[in-house]
Amino acid sequence: MLGITLLLGAIAPLAASQSSPPATQTAPAQPAAPPRLPRLARHPVVALTFDDLPSAGALPAGDQRARIAATLTSELKANNLEGTYGFVNAVRLENDPDAQQALRIWIDAGMNIGNHTWSHPSLADTTVEAYESEIARGEPALAQYAGERDWHWFRYPYLAEGETLEKRNAVRAWLSAHGYRVAQVTLSFDDYAWNDAYGRCLAKQDAAAIAWLRQSYLEGAAEYIQLGRRESAIAFHREGRHEIPHVMLLHAMAFTTLMLPDLIELLRKEGFRFAQLPKVEQDPVYAQNPDAALPYGTSFPGLFMDSRRMTYPPFTPHPNEKLQSLCQ
Ligand SMILES: [Zn+2]
Repeated sequence: MLGITLLLGAIAPLAASQSSPPATQTAPAQPAAPPRLPRLARHPVVALTFDDLPSAGALPAGDQRARIAATLTSELKANNLEGTYGFVNAVRLENDPDAQQALRIWIDAGMNIGNHTWSHPSLADTTVEAYESEIARGEPALAQYAGERDWHWFRYPYLAEGETLEKRNAVRAWLSAHGYRVAQVTLSFDDYAWNDAYGRCLAKQDAAAIAWLRQSYLEGAAEYIQLGRRESAIAFHREGRHEIPHVMLLHAMAFTTLMLPDLIELLRKEGFRFAQLPKVEQDPVYAQNPDAALPYGTSFPGLFMDSRRMTYPPFTPHPNEKLQSLCQ
């Protein structure tokens, strides 16, 4: 659900930065010097987070939300990642015993939950008052499932924090007054884009297509993790060993159950160490407020980069056309 707006947010400034040479230039064209890329830490830190619990993405025929929750939580536990946050749209619990069981499994496995609004509206499409009601409407279910655990973390649907400063500031003030902290995102690779194709290829039992999905998911993850790290280094002037600790956005989908072990292995190979959201957001960078509004949702560094018109580092986009047409 996040993908397209986030992607547009990442691509638009890149295109704007590709300036032409001056018209008066007559000398043979010299290859342009590549932009200096920021240095990155050898051992960065990341908190994994999962959105759209208890039922993210299309469910393949015959699969169950409870099966997805059980598989994800056992993989997280095997990596000592108890306390991982999942963000809940409580409307998805209504009249759905499978979804209710899935959220119970998530909690009983030692994971945490936070608020993702009742039904996932974008702040850009709703009034401040309606949006605040959406957040509040999710609270009874969060309190019921979380018990004694703190659920006062908020993830904006589509990462849209308000298209005007007035709306942005009003919702931030409401969240703060109600004891919430904002669960920011610095690393996202649009994992949503793979899940529907996976469901279609699974129905067709197309093993070659699923193998391509697995490979392209990991390639896309590696590319966008590097991009998000570089964006953060540029946006916050935090390079090398001063690299900020990160928050990664994932979705608790069927394809994620297949890929989470490989994704965790990829992160370990790249030197990542794991922490949980409250620890990561103790870093002072997360107290920074760009005091800027955007008409679309984007990541935490993206919001700073776009509002300050900073130049994005180069990256290879996802194979979106193939993902949309595969196994159709
Ligand atoms: Zn969401």
